[in-house]
Amino acid sequence: MVSAIVLAAGKGSRMKSDTAKQFMEIHGKPLLYYSLKVFDASVVDEIILVTRGNDIDYVREEIVEKYGFKKVRRIVAGGKERFNSVSKGLRACDRRNKIIMIHDAARPCVTNRMILDSISGARRYKACTVAMPVKDTIKIIDDEGFGVETPDRNKVYQIQTPQTFDRKTLEEAYERLRISGDTDITDDTMVVERYLDIHSKMIEGSYENIKVTTPEDVKLAEIYLS
Ligand code: C5P
Repeated sequence: MVSAIVLAAGKGSRMKSDTAKQFMEIHGKPLLYYSLKVFDASVVDEIILVTRGNDIDYVREEIVEKYGFKKVRRIVAGGKERFNSVSKGLRACDRRNKIIMIHDAARPCVTNRMILDSISGARRYKACTVAMPVKDTIKIIDDEGFGVETPDRNKVYQIQTPQTFDRKTLEEAYERLRISGDTDITDDTMVVERYLDIHSKMIEGSYENIKVTTPEDVKLAEIYLS
């Protein structure tokens, strides 16, 4: 049994818009609609939707009920940072479910194939993430902005979501994160890596599975979703 935590509690400050990013419209529907649609139609058993506390009623009425999403079991308030939101979502998951998927609502182009491959990956490896090899050469820079190192491009991946885990593994990693008090966490594979030394398997994503972050991304998402 599988729980999917869909994260939509960000501020979207890089979007420079008055409308919160997750509610910006693409082809007349809010950004959040697109990933909910894919997860709702997939094999996952429940969706835990994490939004900002003030948006819970709006999301329930104007997105979940309006579009008839059946698998959204709970809508919970997120936290200050992404990992705080994950932690709250994790606590709201049905404890009988062995697999937990975490997905950024800001990635509307997720597909059913990614969901299926991620569930198989988590069953086999305990931790996996959708990712793609980088196309550009990557530089590690020093404090003055000079390139000091060039990692082998074939071994550098850009990490996307869904990120999918065995529930016990993820809970233990998040418990250790809580105890550590660390705040420099940018995704969930990093949490299992740092606190449990578990390496996540890379599952093939797509270059279209972009994270809608800045106004240019909205135009791209419009093309990919048309
Ligand atoms: O800010 P960032 O681009 O990393 O956000 C990725 C996803 O995490 C977005 O879908 C955003 O809504 C979500 N998020 C969240 N709670 C936060 C920050 C981000 O649910 N405190």
